[in-house]
Amino acid sequence: MTTRRQFIEKASLSTLAVTLPFASTFSSSVKKQEDKVLRVAIMGLGSYGTRVAEAMKDCKRAKLVGVISGTPSKIEAWKEKYGIPAKNCYNYENYHQIKDNPDIDAVYVITPNSLHKPHSIGVARAGKHVICEKPMALNAEEGREMIQACQEAGVHLLVGYRMHFEAKTLEVIRRQRAGDFGKTLFFQGLSGFMIGDPKQWRLNKALAGGGAMMDIGIYSINGARYMLGEEPIWVTAQEVKTDPVKFKQGVDETITFQMGFPSGAVASCLSTYSMNNLDKFFLNGTKGFAEMQPSTGYGPIQARTNQGPIEAEHITHQTTQMDEMAALILDGKQPMVPVDGEEGLRDLVIVDAIYESVHTGARISLI
Ligand code: NAD
Repeated sequence: MTTRRQFIEKASLSTLAVTLPFASTFSSSVKKQEDKVLRVAIMGLGSYGTRVAEAMKDCKRAKLVGVISGTPSKIEAWKEKYGIPAKNCYNYENYHQIKDNPDIDAVYVITPNSLHKPHSIGVARAGKHVICEKPMALNAEEGREMIQACQEAGVHLLVGYRMHFEAKTLEVIRRQRAGDFGKTLFFQGLSGFMIGDPKQWRLNKALAGGGAMMDIGIYSINGARYMLGEEPIWVTAQEVKTDPVKFKQGVDETITFQMGFPSGAVASCLSTYSMNNLDKFFLNGTKGFAEMQPSTGYGPIQARTNQGPIEAEHITHQTTQMDEMAALILDGKQPMVPVDGEEGLRDLVIVDAIYESVHTGARISLI
């Protein structure tokens, strides 16, 4: 376990990362513990939890050692498949007892969106580091509560932004910061897919907190921020609904939105649950451009610039993510693009503004 003092030291490094979000690593001053492995329990053994568990088989710094699930048959299957000992298995009623388990360092919360806040706060109060899936919470207010709870508990709060560790994405970001594209004045983000089963939790406002924006549109919000390297100062948004039965009140089907940035750059984005083949980022500058398609799917990601294709080995995103998050928690390593609670909160502030703009028709200031 990280002591409170160690956490405060690390937290001050995180603060520096907020000021200099894309500074290169300065972890050399932090003592490395490369022989240490982050022992992780997964909460929510659904489709994405399973993907993370499979990816973690190839991790060097992170190890799946525990589960939290409401379904006993899943726990039995995971014990068998991943060699998880019975003493590291919990359900949603007793998982608070994880505080007495010295063999688990962190819990990865992979439950439906509305449960991220209560589950993350529960994990933090049990003294374990929190890794929480995106969207971090349903709105900015919830996000702030989670950050406060984790600070009070002296644990890390990380958000599952796997693209922040993806090689081609990081190379585009590096070239943008190096000025290779000149002054970047335009970003386009297209994020969407056709959603199936109308009964799933993603189409239930109480569990999802919204619709496509919470689930897939957030990739364009986050991508605009890391590709341009600045924070938006205003938002406008418009909603279109072709199927009000499937997409009930409060569950957005398609939203187009725009963001303005201090440099004068603008982002134009689409979030939808009604069209496939929408997984594309385009960044344009005065000296060049970058295009990524697919840009945020499970990969391989494809990226090219005005100079040609970007080549990098495809590694399963969640494998890299979990190894890098282990280094972040255990060594104090700083990622090129932050993945902490403040980073999750920035996206939620924008999500709130997008919904406000949809409802009011107004341009929403973010400053
Ligand atoms: P899923 O429905 O496949 O799994 C959700 C799990 O939560 C299930 O095992 C379910 O049993 C459990 N659960 C616990 N309490 C529940 C309740 N009250 N109602 C419904 N289910 C409950 O969903 P998923 O696709 O695994 O998504 C889970 C989270 O992971 C979501 O927040 C989603 O946004 C996120 N996700 C992230 C990525 C990514 O690439 N980062 C990809 C997919 C999903």
